[in-house]
Amino acid sequence: MLNSTILEALRNAVDGDGKGTQSGLITATNQLQTYECDGLTNFRTLPGAVLLPRSTAQVQAIIRICAKHGIPFVARGAGTGLSGGALPAEGGIVISFARMTRILEIDIPNQRVVVEPGVINSHVTDAVAAYGYFYAPDPSSQTVCTLGGNVAENSGGAHCLKYGFTTTHVLGLEVVLPNGEVVTFGSGAPDTPGYDLTGVFVGSEGTLGVATKMTLRIVKRPEAVQVLLAAFDSTTAAAQTVSDIIAAGMLPAALEMMDRLSAQASEAAVHPNYPVSEALLLVELDGPEAEVNAQMLQVTALCQQNGAWEVRRAQTAEERALIWKGRKAAFAAMGRISPNYIVQDGVIPRTALPVVLEEITRMAAAVQLRVANVFHAGDGNLHPMVLYDQSIPGQEEIALDLSYRILYLCVDKGGSITGEHGVGKEKQQAMGYMFSEPDLETMQRVRHAFDPQNISNPDKLFPRTRFCAEKTGPYTPHPLESSGVAEFF
Ligand SMILES: Cc1cc2nc3c(=O)[nH]c(=O)nc-3n(C[C@H](O)[C@H](O)[C@H](O)COP(=O)(O)OP(=O)(O)OC[C@H]3O[C@@H](n4cnc5c(N)ncnc54)[C@H](O)[C@@H]3O)c2cc1C
Repeated sequence: MLNSTILEALRNAVDGDGKGTQSGLITATNQLQTYECDGLTNFRTLPGAVLLPRSTAQVQAIIRICAKHGIPFVARGAGTGLSGGALPAEGGIVISFARMTRILEIDIPNQRVVVEPGVINSHVTDAVAAYGYFYAPDPSSQTVCTLGGNVAENSGGAHCLKYGFTTTHVLGLEVVLPNGEVVTFGSGAPDTPGYDLTGVFVGSEGTLGVATKMTLRIVKRPEAVQVLLAAFDSTTAAAQTVSDIIAAGMLPAALEMMDRLSAQASEAAVHPNYPVSEALLLVELDGPEAEVNAQMLQVTALCQQNGAWEVRRAQTAEERALIWKGRKAAFAAMGRISPNYIVQDGVIPRTALPVVLEEITRMAAAVQLRVANVFHAGDGNLHPMVLYDQSIPGQEEIALDLSYRILYLCVDKGGSITGEHGVGKEKQQAMGYMFSEPDLETMQRVRHAFDPQNISNPDKLFPRTRFCAEKTGPYTPHPLESSGVAEFF
């Protein structure tokens, strides 16, 4: 797919005259292997080349070459995605943002920052903390994942219950479209007329083009923050407490739950000093000090009413950080209790938590596997982790099947197949379980409007390609289009 002429053009696009700089083109197989998968390591494909641009103009030059030759490309941030989103097309191009890591502007009076896509999530908070601000969306991977990846996945995190997912915090985007045009969506202003193309782009998983600059909202630090840890004898009791806290009219900054297995793994990995229990609830409240103090008393009472046998309030910033360290380490800590695991990411209505947990336990027992659970319980986002041993023949297939069944269970209970990790490669077939054919067609038309050649992160998100040119063949219009129905797209 990438002949020497194309490779030379790509090298020129990123290196210019190339004097005195390390090349931004990688073609050596051993180096390409770094880019053959993301955090979901059971899907691997070797790209034909990796490009490391330093500017929007260089990204544009790369994508123009891709458009001219019909070469598929995929953007890559830190590669921490858990759904195979940054998996390259075979022989295609990876555009890595490892060299576009500048915070371009900090505008405190207007509460916003302008960043390049390779900036690491937590670096924004680090940069604005001295002014009393923070960037609210906080995926557990926030010390390594990039804002480009966050925007593409509409990432969430513990504090998104109160502050909203990434989409709430993106005011504007500069995007290189799959034909190489540079466009601006949204603006620094809180609202703009016309279609909300910023909203369409956020969460589109790299299928509509590549973001090269983003304007993000930052938030004033609250006066007080308090964290409480409560231990229960059952996940049902902890889940009931979650419902009771919300029903009492409180909106905690974070409301997280861990079951016995996940707490045990975190304890082994980072020693957060968690009580040994069937379910742990982490409640963070923030706001004016008087309000936080009053609500903490209410939350404590609700925990106790539901049978919490230990309710511990962090007394210092260090204790607070330790409690969070345990929760944020939960995925990575699974290695302590299982050789392999699959992280799933379903959403259910909060009130369905007890019945869904019971069903997950039953399904896991039926195939003799263990499932550890962590939850953004406040917004009904489950992360079941199916534990297995790859060295046992057939067990990986059983684990994959179980993890898919858990997603279908979430859909059956009125939820969704992903809360924050995206569909990517992993869950594309499950889209057909969640959406009807007309729903999928409508989404595909949006995609086609941006990327008629199907070169921007192809073969992701949807169960199959429609409307779009096959990677190697000419563009054949879908029957709907030739009959004129889709002429507007
Ligand atoms: C331990 C661990 C914990 C995690 N916890 C959370 C969590 O709490 N919440 C959560 O939401 N996720 C979580 N994740 C998943 C992951 O970190 C997020 O999806 C994150 O946003 C991915 O960022 P990244 O820079 O690694 O992107 P990548 O994995 O490199 O890419 C992800 C997707 O974004 C696209 N993309 C990247 N940059 C751009 C760009 N500039 N323009 C267009 N598309 C782009 C890629 O093509 C790909 O489809 C976790 C992952 C791990 C490993």
